[in-house]
Amino acid sequence: MPEARLITSPANPEIKRIRGLALRKKREEERLFVAEGLRHVMEAIEAGWPLETLVYRADVAQRPKVAEARAATAAAGGFCLEVTEAVLAKMTKRDNPQTVVGVLRQRWQPLEGIAPGKLWIALETVRDPGNLGTVLRTADAVAADGVILIGETCDPYSPESVRASMGSVVRVPLVRATPEPFLAWRAGWPGLVVGTHLSGDADYRAVAYDPPVLLIMGNEQAGLTDALAAACDRLVKIPMAGGADSLNLSVATAVMLFEIARARLAL
Ligand code: SAM
Repeated sequence: MPEARLITSPANPEIKRIRGLALRKKREEERLFVAEGLRHVMEAIEAGWPLETLVYRADVAQRPKVAEARAATAAAGGFCLEVTEAVLAKMTKRDNPQTVVGVLRQRWQPLEGIAPGKLWIALETVRDPGNLGTVLRTADAVAADGVILIGETCDPYSPESVRASMGSVVRVPLVRATPEPFLAWRAGWPGLVVGTHLSGDADYRAVAYDPPVLLIMGNEQAGLTDALAAACDRLVKIPMAGGADSLNLSVATAVMLFEIARARLAL
């Protein structure tokens, strides 16, 4: 089994570096992010994401899955750090920290490299990392091909988004684009482009979603901008009967994704 360094001080520079990844600026500089928990670390390894660093509580080092994660990390040239619970708590800012934490390299796919496949989702200026992580989880559940983040969005690799994605962040390809290149790329999209809008003129259940479909969702506060709404072939609305004037973004995305994918989902 590969050698691991035992760290007992939260002030250790390596621990401080990983703790710093809670800040977007640091994540972007280093192109890294943190996944908490053995299950998510193993899912990342299984999905072909080598760990840059594996951090684990010293007393779980010999558990079979932790040993597997250590071996995979070392085989991929990563580092293994054995730490105390106090170090893990400080590093993750949690009172009851997970026993295993992985540091992973971010992945972004270029817009030009997208193969249409069956279903892509584009989110305009999504602001809430919980919403974004939940959308990633739902996109994974319907085997969507990926998610495009348009404009100034929150970070899918933030701790909140990664947690909300429940591991799906390593299974859903991510693309980011400013509006102009997105609109230029959209002009070459070979299938249906459907936007969701509170002024949509079609019931979302009345549209034929033959693949490939590009689904565009609007911002939590402002909805879809006029420029993006104009770029859609159809603007659909999810009917509502009560007093709420709109659905939460991640809920509306889930309703749309399960309708679009309905024909190919089966128990
Ligand atoms: N005040 C915003 C507006 O005027 O659009 C509400 C935005 S809503 C919270 C966030 C996004 O979820 C919307 O831009 C749209 O994409 C989608 N959405 C929410 N409820 C919807 C509904 N009933 N029909 C269609 N889309 C909906």
